[in-house]
Amino acid sequence: MEHLAVSTAPRPRRRIVMTSPPTEGPLNLVLFGPPGAGKGTQADRLALRYNVPKISTGDMLRQAIQDRSRIGELVRDTLDRGALVGDDLIISLVGQRLEQPDTVNGFVLDGFPRTIPQAAALDALLADRGRVMVIALVVHVDEVIRRLSDRGRADDEAFVIRERLAIYTRDTEPVLEYYRRRASVTILDGNRPTDAVTEDIEAAVSTASGPSPRNS
Ligand code: AMP
Repeated sequence: MEHLAVSTAPRPRRRIVMTSPPTEGPLNLVLFGPPGAGKGTQADRLALRYNVPKISTGDMLRQAIQDRSRIGELVRDTLDRGALVGDDLIISLVGQRLEQPDTVNGFVLDGFPRTIPQAAALDALLADRGRVMVIALVVHVDEVIRRLSDRGRADDEAFVIRERLAIYTRDTEPVLEYYRRRASVTILDGNRPTDAVTEDIEAAVSTASGPSPRNS
């Protein structure tokens, strides 16, 4: 699968790929895409729309740093550098979060999994909890850099952005290939305006999971 999430290739058509959608059960959504793709914003909207929790590993780690917890102290440097924290730590954080009862009808994962071992661990964690539906946002590299530069977060400085994009290409993009054989994968054009992307995602979810929204 070439020219995916951070791409200098021509912009993709609105929806490129759709494979074997889930039909029923919890709504286990994974939002996938490079830093700056709009995953956080879209995850907030989807969580509200489908009445499932948003689980953002980046938010969890930033909160831990703010709280000066043991985990926060462990990961602070890693986040500052734009590197990935270790798989074991992040898998255990997500594993604990998925034990909370609010996840029984599903969740929106934002920023996890970011490596193939994380994706495999999620499969194991969800063994009898339904399949995952992956929504991947493809964003042009210039747009990613523009958005991150505007955002002004501590790890959005130019050199950290470059590092995060390189890590994305090396470690995270292969996760999409992993999912192509195991889950429903929908690839959407994340360059479009936020509302248009939300509509595209909702259309993909309703195609995959039936005609009516779950909380209406
Ligand atoms: P995000 O807010 O998703 O961009 O995440 C911010 C930072 O948190 C990343 O640059 C990583 O340092 C760390 N992080 C978040 N999620 C993960 C993950 N699934 N695996 C490893 N590191 C992560």
